[in-house]
Amino acid sequence: MYKTTIGLEIHFEAKTKSKMFCSCYNEANSSLEEKPNTNICPICTGQPGAMPVINEEAINKVIMAGLALDCEIAKQSKFDRKNYFYPDLPKGYQISQYDLPICNDGFLDISLGDGRKKRIRITRVHMEEDTAKLFHAPDGPSLVDFNRSGVPLFELVTEPDINSAEEAKKFSQELQLIFRYLDISNADMEKGQMRCEVNISLNKEGDKELGIKVEIKNLNSFKAVEKSIEYEIKRQADLLDRGEKIVQETRGWHDDKQITISQRGKENAHEYRYFPEPDLPPLEISAEKIEEIKSHMPELPSQKRTRFAEEYSLAEKNIEFFIRDEALAEYFEKVVTELNCWKNETEAAKKQPAKSWPEMIKLAANYIISDLQSMIKADKAENYSAEYVESKITPENFGEFICMISMGQISSKIAKIVLLEMFKTGADPSHIIEEKGLSQIESDEEISKIIDVVLEKNKKAVEDFKNGKQNSFAFLIGQIMAESNGKANPEKSAELLKTKLK
Ligand SMILES: [Zn+2]
Repeated sequence: MYKTTIGLEIHFEAKTKSKMFCSCYNEANSSLEEKPNTNICPICTGQPGAMPVINEEAINKVIMAGLALDCEIAKQSKFDRKNYFYPDLPKGYQISQYDLPICNDGFLDISLGDGRKKRIRITRVHMEEDTAKLFHAPDGPSLVDFNRSGVPLFELVTEPDINSAEEAKKFSQELQLIFRYLDISNADMEKGQMRCEVNISLNKEGDKELGIKVEIKNLNSFKAVEKSIEYEIKRQADLLDRGEKIVQETRGWHDDKQITISQRGKENAHEYRYFPEPDLPPLEISAEKIEEIKSHMPELPSQKRTRFAEEYSLAEKNIEFFIRDEALAEYFEKVVTELNCWKNETEAAKKQPAKSWPEMIKLAANYIISDLQSMIKADKAENYSAEYVESKITPENFGEFICMISMGQISSKIAKIVLLEMFKTGADPSHIIEEKGLSQIESDEEISKIIDVVLEKNKKAVEDFKNGKQNSFAFLIGQIMAESNGKANPEKSAELLKTKLK
């Protein structure tokens, strides 16, 4: 058995108005794909004599990332030149940070499936600029698009604290969530706004030294992160089993074949000759600035998890849903506010609480997560916002809807019809119920008539019930609901049925 040790290096394109060192528009800010080489200037195309200027918005955002990850924020930092030649790097060097990154020594706790938590230490998060993009035509020239050149990048490096593919995936997913909550990166992996590199080595359990490190690049989905690690663990274990040596190298993930392929060996490793960027002043980050940013930090996923558990006592599965769907989470909280008003202000609520308060909140969560969500999906609304959801059904109407179910005024069958109608028309539930003749049948006489019809049709079930088969009762109730199109008051129906069966 071998022990797997993994470290991650993750790049995020920052969501800022302009690029890192010039005022060109940053495409990572929107989902629009612009025409190649339209957002460029002498600075981001590396013209001689062009002078870079530090983008303060990007610096503020990397500080936010650092604070969210419990990093130390450096009071003094600087930019360095990382020298190498490649056609996507017009200056012949990349402006990055070498020995004084802005954020140091942080951590992120991830939840593993079995309820365990694991702390992954974060070595650093620094700021740098992205390179241009190369396009290789199959049988033509290679083309360069400089729109991406100079886009601000956060580079995050972890300590080798990760020990499985699952942990690597969970860590990257949580990081994506945090950066999206902070609104500092769209972190879309398919669009290259979040890029993961994995360092992985295997050694024998109990070995003091780590094994030979292999780097995996070109991972553009969480699935690729997970699958490439699983593949690499097996590949390296097989080599070690046969007594062969692992080659220190960079490997690329081949998504179609689901394998890693050797890209370059150690002999080609770069010597970057870092030195301080002479065109930029050193960065001074004041304690006041850090405090100022801290005071404007939005709620983080972990804080929201705790709050949703404490305030609403929802099941973990439902909390996770709301953590990932911010629009519906916001909507849910507005509905709860409406329910609260109703609870405090309505006489009916004080007299006749058909369902307990936690039950009502759970009911609201369930109708939002299951029914409302599928209506939104059917409406083909992508990337919907809370405003969009509210434009369909106001939180007030949704709250009223939940109250009606809680008070036993409509059955769950009728509820589904009413909700769909609410979504389609935007009308309030009581209006729909009246208009569509969906109100509950309350009269004993009418329910009695319906039960008689049902009993006549289901003599076998009646016989079974009399012979002690308890299930038949539920069956008959189901038949009564069907016969009345879901309108018979369920409690009254049950009572009357009991009497009749005696
Ligand atoms: Zn520019």
